[in-house]
Amino acid sequence: MAKVDHDLTDDQWQALVDHWEGCAYCGTADASPQRDCVLPISRGGRYTLANVVPTCRSCNASKCNSEVTGWLRRKRLDERRFLERHAHISAALAGRFADSATTSPDEPALE
Ligand SMILES: [Zn+2]
Repeated sequence: MAKVDHDLTDDQWQALVDHWEGCAYCGTADASPQRDCVLPISRGGRYTLANVVPTCRSCNASKCNSEVTGWLRRKRLDERRFLERHAHISAALAGRFADSATTSPDEPALE
């Protein structure tokens, strides 16, 4: 079952929710956060541990297919804080899920 490339497992998703403790972009606590691809699927992103973050409904709807850093700037959200937390959490979870998460060479670049 080598679907990890495209599908986040429930365990991985729960770990992301636990680490972010709210919307990854604006910080709003949401009882049922939505899955947002940092690099949108339409831009080559995938549902992987490194590319999915929990977001509130409002951010998810607003960001849609936008490139993440440009969108954060437009929304006057804290781009630096997001990128630092994203790097930190991705690294922490990549270690934790090292057995199941593939270390893909084409990790989405955040710039
Ligand atoms: Zn939000």
